[in-house]
Amino acid sequence: MTAIDPRVVPGPRPLESPDADPLLETIVAISTPPGRGGLGVVRLSGPRAVAVAWSLFRPAGGDRQAPSAGRTVFGTFVDGKGRGIDHGYFVLFEPPATFTGESQAELWGHGSPAALRRLMETAVELGARPATPGEFTLRAFLNGRIDVTQAEAIRDLIEARTAYQAQVALQQVHGRVSEQVNRLKERLAELVARLEASIEFGEEDEAGRFLPSAGAQPETRALLGEIESLAGTWERGRRVRDGATIALAGLPNVGKSSLFNRLLEEERAIVTPIAGTTRDVLEETLDLGGVPAVLLDTAGLRDTADVAVSEGVRRARLALETADVRVLVLDGSRPLEDEEAALLAGLVPGRGMVVVNKSDLPSGLDADLLRGLKASHGAVRVSARSGAGIDRLRLRLQEIVTGSTTAAREQPFITNVRHHDLLSRAAAALRRALVAAGAGVGEECLLLDYRDALDRLGEITGEVGIEGIYERIFRNFCIGK
Ligand code: GDP
Repeated sequence: MTAIDPRVVPGPRPLESPDADPLLETIVAISTPPGRGGLGVVRLSGPRAVAVAWSLFRPAGGDRQAPSAGRTVFGTFVDGKGRGIDHGYFVLFEPPATFTGESQAELWGHGSPAALRRLMETAVELGARPATPGEFTLRAFLNGRIDVTQAEAIRDLIEARTAYQAQVALQQVHGRVSEQVNRLKERLAELVARLEASIEFGEEDEAGRFLPSAGAQPETRALLGEIESLAGTWERGRRVRDGATIALAGLPNVGKSSLFNRLLEEERAIVTPIAGTTRDVLEETLDLGGVPAVLLDTAGLRDTADVAVSEGVRRARLALETADVRVLVLDGSRPLEDEEAALLAGLVPGRGMVVVNKSDLPSGLDADLLRGLKASHGAVRVSARSGAGIDRLRLRLQEIVTGSTTAAREQPFITNVRHHDLLSRAAAALRRALVAAGAGVGEECLLLDYRDALDRLGEITGEVGIEGIYERIFRNFCIGK
């Protein structure tokens, strides 16, 4: 993509010189996490990155010249007076093939907070400025190395909680979202160009050359469909990125806590034959095929005069209302109770399922009812005691949580609410254009909606200026990235 003029994008600026071009400054940060560890990395980027880092370094071999790009040199890190701070490697990266697109240097030392802080301070004494959160990534964007979706994906990769989330984020770092959006954007830009040309030559015979005889509407409809379907993948992407909450519900003693423990593979909830043991809502994170899910164990839903138990029931109902997925647990060794029939009626397919527990005991549920539950609510028979059926339950939960089957996992989808919002706005603009065209509005007016749609797509990748981009995209990165 083309580099964006940094002056139109408000990025972080040094306090003392508010008018300076931020890209002319050299920034420095400790890029490894705070705390002690085997390695600690100080990273510099900007015009004086190499000069500053080289002043902090005394190569073991006594070389006077900085090494060539990508090579490491071992030596001692020193302060401004030449006093040793630590020892380690000096690494140099030369543009254009650097993350930020600028000269970069890194000092790889020990993960000693004191030594790293001293290195930082010395770099600042030598003219570098402490980087603000995400400033290295901001520079990568400003220098045209990555687009905004890739920058956002870097943050997602750093924040991934499961291997699958990391994998999805990496695909986006490699441009998976941009590819999809750019493809749509190119088609829309072509349509806009044809519309513009047909307006310009409207009076002449050539007008028909630019648009098919059916006009712009068929292609607009096709594009609208594709934009909407990409926007629609967010429901799944949101779950992949943010996870989901799954609440276990049911009458007391059906085995909710046993199931909770079994799914988590640990004895987290207290299990007793005494009804009403679980009074508060317990929650733990479960990895469902790479999608993090918060599993909630709730108090048995039964009216009672006991104050503590009824408070538990109130909290359980609240948790159920807000959960993404509700799992109604039934005791398969006894017939359905009236209260359970009522809970079943409130279960929304796609947002809930039934688990018939205690499959190790003789079935007490009506066989027809069980068949019906399997058909209508995807009921799974399990035994929290023996573990039978638990793998199948996990798979069902995974499908409900991600809103898809395992096969669909490879289909591209968006995970970012900002992308969803902009795709929805682009779709709305095209819908407006279609309605207006149907009402006989002139092409020149329609163009406003088409250009609006095009801008919204451009905003996804950052090609069109994003207001407050630093605050919105980069500010919540870690320092040093
Ligand atoms: P909750 O009140 O719904 O949370 O139920 P618990 O998990 O506390 O279990 C209630 C009782 O049912 C306990 O005595 C458990 O040992 C028993 N139980 C739970 N799951 C099973 C199961 O799969 N098979 C059998 N036979 N008993 C179970």
